[in-house]
Amino acid sequence: MRVLTTVEDVRNQVKAWKKEGLTVGLVPTMGYLHEGHASLVQRAKNENDRVVVSVFVNPTQFGPNEDLATYPRDLEHDAELLESLGVDILFHPTPEEMYPGKARTWVTVEDLTTGLCGKTRPTHFRGVCTVVSKLMNIVTPDKAYFGRKDAQQLAVIRQMVKDLNIGIDIVGCPIVREADGLAKSSRNKYLSESERQSALVLSKAVAEGKALVAAGQTCTQTIVDAMVRVIESDPTAKIDYVEAVDALTMAPVTEIKEPVLFAMAVYIGKTRLIDNFGSDEVNDAN
Ligand code: AMP
Repeated sequence: MRVLTTVEDVRNQVKAWKKEGLTVGLVPTMGYLHEGHASLVQRAKNENDRVVVSVFVNPTQFGPNEDLATYPRDLEHDAELLESLGVDILFHPTPEEMYPGKARTWVTVEDLTTGLCGKTRPTHFRGVCTVVSKLMNIVTPDKAYFGRKDAQQLAVIRQMVKDLNIGIDIVGCPIVREADGLAKSSRNKYLSESERQSALVLSKAVAEGKALVAAGQTCTQTIVDAMVRVIESDPTAKIDYVEAVDALTMAPVTEIKEPVLFAMAVYIGKTRLIDNFGSDEVNDAN
């Protein structure tokens, strides 16, 4: 595995691969890797001749009062894991390499980014779309891999790729969970032992919602209310949102006809965690 830090080195390596007719998969991450990230990498390995994983804590997707400075980092561990998975390039640029000088160009996806996480994080998706566009332009992969854990992000990126005619296949991968149900996340590191227990309300709410959908409930408010009750059973949990939206447009829906995304963000102490499920995934899960 080559660990590269410059855009130029990545471009040169990818150019050489393309001359040989090899296909390339890209997995964008912010590092502090866990089995969720590993599942994306494995899928990319299965579907491409070469795999590039970026590890970059992207400053432009953090708001002024968010956790950019304290976001967990461990490049040595990340490199070991990626090497063991057979990754070809670990791209680890500095913020200056990715954003040299003052940038005046941003990629903004409208509508899909105003609700859910966009409400409390108004510049987040602009940062995500801009950095993902840049990574796509640098690596020029055939396919790029994203987790359904960040379901709104996945929908936004699909929309961006469609609207801008970016000829890259976007592959969405299932949520990987701890044995007790908690969705794996780099931010789980922030949780104290008791908060770690409290954090189970998110996956319990997912299980409750899925059970109602499986039982034939189609009124989204009934399902959301039941999920809220599960979360509020733990006094440390503070709901940012629990919502039912159209899985493609992120617009609120009252009745399940087309696939519906049930998504939530919940503060456990100071840590903001997200989880979700799709109404169309319920049969797979049971
Ligand atoms: P992050 O490093 O948190 O920006 O995540 C990088 C990619 O890994 C994103 O596409 C995430 O959706 C995905 N990811 C993070 N956690 C999980 C998980 N538990 N299961 C599946 N994918 C995940």
